[in-house]
Amino acid sequence: MSERTAPRTAPLRARAEIDLAALRANVRALRAHAPGAALMAVVKSEAYGHGAVPCARAAVAAGADWLGTATPEEALALRAAGLPGRIMCWLWTPGGPWREAIEADLDVSVSAMWALGEVTEAARLAGRPARVQLKADTGLGRGGCQPGDDWAELVREALRAEAEGLLRVTGLWSHLACADEPGHPSIAAQLGLFQEMVAYAEERGVRPEVRHIANSPATLTLPESHFDLVRTGISLYGISPSPELGTPADFGLRPVMTLSASLALVKRVPGGHGVSYGHGYVTPGETTLGLVPLGYADGIPRHASSAGPVLVEGKWRTIAGRVAMDQFVVDLGGDEPEAGAEAVLFGPGDRGEPTAEDWAQAAGTIAYEIVTRIGTRVPRVYVNEEQDG
Ligand SMILES: *Cc1c(COP(=O)(O)O)cnc(C)c1O
Repeated sequence: MSERTAPRTAPLRARAEIDLAALRANVRALRAHAPGAALMAVVKSEAYGHGAVPCARAAVAAGADWLGTATPEEALALRAAGLPGRIMCWLWTPGGPWREAIEADLDVSVSAMWALGEVTEAARLAGRPARVQLKADTGLGRGGCQPGDDWAELVREALRAEAEGLLRVTGLWSHLACADEPGHPSIAAQLGLFQEMVAYAEERGVRPEVRHIANSPATLTLPESHFDLVRTGISLYGISPSPELGTPADFGLRPVMTLSASLALVKRVPGGHGVSYGHGYVTPGETTLGLVPLGYADGIPRHASSAGPVLVEGKWRTIAGRVAMDQFVVDLGGDEPEAGAEAVLFGPGDRGEPTAEDWAQAAGTIAYEIVTRIGTRVPRVYVNEEQDG
């Protein structure tokens, strides 16, 4: 991902400004939501589109105890960039870089016997023990080991490998299915089963450093889910896990990314003029059109055609017609900003601009997808990199 240090006013086609002071403040706010637990900053998928290394550094500077990624490659890249401390990764496939992970001191997740076999073999070759966290499926029905015989076998064999000095079971963990719907019956069921599966492992001799199940919505709304550690992703970037739970401000969070572009063209057109592919918009009368040089290749959802909001010179404008690969058009209603004028797609909202949540609603998706899909062609411009006083 390209990094720029140029100021906001630099003549870039488009930019995603990343406010690292906001990210650091979000880390502190999240710590206050879960004061008894360690905090894992989840920086998978380029820190949800914000840039993994700068965001990981800022999160650690603000007091995050752990970093988390999905893939081992993402975790290895953080270590290679010099990030210290505990880094966990959980999405493994057969033949994965187990030995590299052991040598880089990563905590790896194991959900199944095939993975336990591969990690112990890699530890034997590396000549040092792996840090393994056993993942339980307590009801999500995605990754994780099923309760019952599967869990019994995984725990038994992990303990056997631990006794041989091939690994250390550093964690027992799981993931929630419906944490963003407080009161959903699956939440209590998952917490209960997690406690049972943890108790089973501990009775047989597992001594985990951390037991954890909470993601952002659970961190913000479900203290009984915090255990020893919370894994926060979306909230770190100042976005609410769900508009039904509350706004970022309700949780003391501030959006980190501001996406903007320079208008590439402003022109006057007559009424009845079709706009963009398929003529999904036809000007209702004489007006001005502004060309925004961002498209679906940059992660602007095509589903936001005729719906996505943009702030131009203090006014909300709506995408006119279809989002194309590299550009879309807004009807400026007769206003004539100059080419190069700023179009703000989303940000924290304090300048009156839309938010990532507004885009999620316009495109029928969640704000996670809006920020995560902003493409590599959009430079990330980091601001407030200095640690706060
Ligand atoms: C992505 C992820 C998280 C973070 O979820 P948020 O809702 O973004 O906080 C936590 N745990 C796991 C296993 C994840 O994959």
